[in-house]
Amino acid sequence: MSDLNEVGERDNWRCWLCDKDVDPDASVNSDLGPSTDSYAVTKAKKGSPAVERLAHRMCNTMKGKHTPVVAWPEDLLAAEPAPIVETVERLLQKGGRELVARFSSESDAENASVWLLDRLSRFAPNAKFDTQVNSGGGQFLLMLRMA
Ligand SMILES: [Zn+2]
Repeated sequence: MSDLNEVGERDNWRCWLCDKDVDPDASVNSDLGPSTDSYAVTKAKKGSPAVERLAHRMCNTMKGKHTPVVAWPEDLLAAEPAPIVETVERLLQKGGRELVARFSSESDAENASVWLLDRLSRFAPNAKFDTQVNSGGGQFLLMLRMA
């Protein structure tokens, strides 16, 4: 149990998959109880060790069946948002930069940029990312790259 507590403290008792709070006192056998795992996204970068992350037991179980999904918040009004997990994995492996979503207003794009960087700081804490907003064709394109 000491491992779980250490990981939980470090991750502020927040699930790295769904980004919601994990109750440290919940039974480890309950769906929303705490569990830890290490996922490839944290070790995709050559040479960096896998890192144990805190997750709800249920989220951890689901992850084995599907690729985990990091949801875009609906209020960000992103058009054609890219799947975050796959995009991050590609960037970790190949570098470069990718278009992650389009917006009709610059402030929406800026808000999404702030949200994404904050979310990724917990999703992939070993990696550093940068965003850029490019305007083109009357739209604002949010680009993501490794910093
Ligand atoms: Zn969760």
